Amino acid sequence: MKQIVTIAELRQARKSLLAEVGLVPTMGALHDGHLSLIETARRENDYVIVTIFINPKQFAPHEDLEGYPRDIEGDLAKLQKAGVDLVFLPSPLVMYPEGFRTYVTVKEITLRLEGERRPEHFRGVTTVVSKLFNLAQPDRAYFGQKDAQQVVVLRQMVKDLNFPVEIVVCPTIREADGLAMSSRNVYLNAKERESAARLFHALQEAGQAYEKGERDPELLRTIALEVLNSDEIIRTDYVSIVDPSTFGAVIYQDDPMLILVAAQIGRPRLLDNCLLPWGLNTQEGLSTILGTN
Ligand code: AMP
Repeated sequence: MKQIVTIAELRQARKSLLAEVGLVPTMGALHDGHLSLIETARRENDYVIVTIFINPKQFAPHEDLEGYPRDIEGDLAKLQKAGVDLVFLPSPLVMYPEGFRTYVTVKEITLRLEGERRPEHFRGVTTVVSKLFNLAQPDRAYFGQKDAQQVVVLRQMVKDLNFPVEIVVCPTIREADGLAMSSRNVYLNAKERESAARLFHALQEAGQAYEKGERDPELLRTIALEVLNSDEIIRTDYVSIVDPSTFGAVIYQDDPMLILVAAQIGRPRLLDNCLLPWGLNTQEGLSTILGTN
């Protein structure tokens, strides 16, 4: 596995990859969620490039950039074992040298939910992913369902700016009790960790009501909200049901819906979501509805 830290080396290494390349962008502190993206990329491409970069431009000043979990040694061991060909670990100055002035902005979708609460966040994501696409020139790029809004924003960017990249969306990998794996879960104490599983239980309750025939988004939302409200440790930020292609209100109740939850539990702010009907939460279903497949 080649480890690369400069733009020039990455460009040089990319030139020698003469078959299909899959790219998995990450911020490190790798867990099984990241590894499932890498495994899928490994299966579907001849070469896999993983990037580890804690992108300062997607953190607001009050957010936890300095405190974001880091484990480079552990990450490199996992990537080596996963059969990754090339890992790109740039410093912030390599990505944003003195005089950097260009940003990529996707409109509308980025104003809702996560974008409303984190105004600069998606601009940071689309800017860094544009750079990574230009550098790695992947055929496919792999993103997790857990950040569903991110993936829909990136899909819009790929379409509007004609990036020749397929966006593949991989299902959320969970702990045994349903909690979505996240690098930020390490901040949860034992009691908070127990409560955190309720995010998934809230989605499941809404999913079960949907399977029984309930289609009213407001009712489904209330069912999920009640699960979260029954736990005083959980500070719910939002429960929202949207049309997954626009992130706006559901128009046709028989079309797939996306239910999303965000909550502060102790130090971390946690996210989760699922498509309804539940059967769509597979790589194929997710990539068709949220990705470019
Ligand atoms: P991050 O390092 O948090 O920026 O995540 C890198 C990629 O891994 C993003 O596309 C995430 O959506 C994805 N990811 C994070 N957690 C999970 C998970 N539990 N299951 C699947 N993918 C995930």
